[in-house]
Amino acid sequence: MRGLRQAQRGQRSRGPHCGFTQADFKKAGRLGCSGCYVTFAEGLEGLLKTMHKGTQHVGKIPHDLQQSRDLSDKLKSLLKKLDKVVAEEDFEQAAVVRDEIKATKEKLSEITAV
Ligand SMILES: [Zn+2]
Repeated sequence: MRGLRQAQRGQRSRGPHCGFTQADFKKAGRLGCSGCYVTFAEGLEGLLKTMHKGTQHVGKIPHDLQQSRDLSDKLKSLLKKLDKVVAEEDFEQAAVVRDEIKATKEKLSEITAV
């Protein structure tokens, strides 16, 4: 209901909304229009995950932003750690940290590439 009002006021909507409710969406398993995506964006992710079809917009929703932020933070602290272990000439540990950095970068690019 809150979302519908927002759409009618045109605040977050990219277009007219067809009037789908979240219940309609659950029943139909798909969105009625692009306005639905905007309207349901907050609650959408969990639903889409269980449906796994028609998820072309899923990479742009807030949870992924949060996740990429977490990964960026992790990456920063790993880089700091790498500096430290290299300075200490702990090359065994440096190799481990470097692998972690690589894996974190890959995860990050998977999310941001969508
Ligand atoms: Zn709609």
